Amino acid sequence: MISDNYEYVIGLEIHAQMLTRSKLFCGCSTQFGATANSQTCPVCSGFPGVLPVLNREAVNMTIRTGLAINGQVRLMSEFARKNYFYPDLPNGYQISQFELPIIEHGHVNIELTKGADKKKGGPMKRIGITRIHMEVDAGKNIHEGIVGASWVDLNRTGVPLMEIVSEPDIRTPEEAGEYLKKIRSIVRYLGACDGNMEQGSFRCDANVSIRRTGQAEFGTRAELKNLNSIRNVMRAIEYEGGRQEDLLESGGKVIQETRLWDPTKNESRSMRGKEEAHDYRYFPEPDLPPLIVTEERIEQLRAKMPELPDDKKERFREQYGLNAYDAGLLTGSQRLANYYETVAETVTKAGKSDNKIAANWVAVELLALLNKNSIDIDKSPVSAVNLGNLVALIINNTISGKIAKEVFAIMFETGEAPGKIVKEKGLEQVTDTGAIEAEVDQVLKKHAKEVEAYRDGKTKLLGFFVGQVMKATKGKASPKMVNELLRKKL
Ligand code: ADP
Ligand code: MG
Ligand code: ZN
Repeated sequence: MISDNYEYVIGLEIHAQMLTRSKLFCGCSTQFGATANSQTCPVCSGFPGVLPVLNREAVNMTIRTGLAINGQVRLMSEFARKNYFYPDLPNGYQISQFELPIIEHGHVNIELTKGADKKKGGPMKRIGITRIHMEVDAGKNIHEGIVGASWVDLNRTGVPLMEIVSEPDIRTPEEAGEYLKKIRSIVRYLGACDGNMEQGSFRCDANVSIRRTGQAEFGTRAELKNLNSIRNVMRAIEYEGGRQEDLLESGGKVIQETRLWDPTKNESRSMRGKEEAHDYRYFPEPDLPPLIVTEERIEQLRAKMPELPDDKKERFREQYGLNAYDAGLLTGSQRLANYYETVAETVTKAGKSDNKIAANWVAVELLALLNKNSIDIDKSPVSAVNLGNLVALIINNTISGKIAKEVFAIMFETGEAPGKIVKEKGLEQVTDTGAIEAEVDQVLKKHAKEVEAYRDGKTKLLGFFVGQVMKATKGKASPKMVNELLRKKL
C-alpha cells in the first residue's frame, strides 16, 4: 500500500494462449494435459533445417481481438527472433513480433468501482493498449518428483500466444483488476482464449512504479511475475507500491528489475535485473515472409464479430431495464448472459414478465448455489427454462417467494421441473379467502391476550400474527392476503 503522497503507475502485459487446435508454426496439437513430449515434431522441437508455417486461424483470432479492443490492424507486420537460451526453448530463440506488431493503438473502457452507484454504475476510464503481437509459448521444465535432474516437456513449445501490452495508464490495483477482467471477458467472448489464470493459459506480468502526487515523470518500474489470479495481481501491486515507497522515503532508489511474487508469503523477491530489448538481439525472422493482411480479410472478420461485453451490458440495461450492477454481473460471461436471456424469455412466455425478479434469481440465488458447489453455469442442475418457470410461478402468485426457495433447493438437488415439485408436495399458495380467514380467526382466538395488547397500541404484534397464520398454513397462505385480513379483523 502507498500513502496519499504517492500514486501508482501501472502497465500490464498479458500473455493469452490462443484456442487454436494446432500450434503457431506446425501442425502439433495444443491439447492441454497430454503425456509429456507426445505433441512435438521437428519444427517445435527446434531441429535444424525445418521451416515454420504460420497458422492462419491464430492470425484471425489476433485480428478479432484487435478489433474488439478498438485497435488498428497493420496490413504488413513482421515476425522477429528474440534470442535467449533456456532449456525449455529448444530453438535458442522465440519467434515473436517486435518492431511491427499486428495490432497497435487500441483501448478498452473499464468501470471504476470507486464512487460506483448500483443503479448507474461507476465512472468509466479508458486504458490504452499499446500493441498486441503474436509469439510462441515456451515448454515446461519439470523439477517435481525428480531427484538430481530436471525434465523438459515440449508439448507447450510453439503454442500460439497473444501478448497484449497496456499503456502505463493504470493508477490503482483496483483498476488493474478491472482491466484484467475486461480483457479476459473479451477474449472469452471471442473464443480466442479460455482465460484460465490458474492453468496459465491467461498470464499477467505487472509493471509497477510510483511517483509523488503531482509529479509528471514516471518513476523506475519493477516487473512482477508469477501472478496466477486477479487477486494476486492486485495484492502484488499493493505490496510493490509499499516496498517502493519505503525505499524512496529512506533515501534509497528503485532499481529496474524482475520480481517474483510469492502468493503464500504475500511478498515478492528479486529474480533478476531487468533485461533490455537489445539484450535479445532481435532481428526479423529470416524463415518467414512479412505477414500481409488484406482489408477484405479484416472486414470479413469484423462482420462475424459477436456482441461484445460492453454492448451486451448496454443492451441488458435497455432491453430488460436492469441496473448497471446486475447488467454487468449477468454479462460477465456469454453463457451466463444466455442463461439469463432464456430465463427472462420463459417468464415472459408464461404471461407476466418481470426481468428484475428474473435477474435476482439468476444473479443471487442460482449463482450462490453454483459457486458454493463449484459448478459451472453450463452444468447447472437447474435449467434456464425450469428457473424461468419457477419465477413465473412466483409472479402469478402460485407460490410465495419463501416456498419458491424451498422448491428451488429441491430443483437444484434433483433437476426436476418446478411445476411437478409444487404439485407433488402440494405447495400451491392458498389464495382462497375463506380458507385463510378461517386460519386467521383460529389464531386470533388462540392469542386473545396479544389481540388485546395490539388493540392497546402494540401494533408491532402484527408480525407475530402473520407468523402464526403462516405457520398454521405451512407457509402456503398468500402473505399479502394474510396481512390484509389481519388488519381488517384487528
Ligand atoms: P518490456 O518489453 O521490456 O517489458 P515495454 O516497453 O514493452 O517493456 O513495457 C512493458 C510495460 O511496462 C507496458 O505495459 C508499459 O505500459 C509499462 N511501463 C512502461 N514504463 C512504466 C513505468 N515507468 N511504470 C509502470 N509501468 C510502465
Ligand atoms: Mg515485459
Ligand atoms: Zn510441432
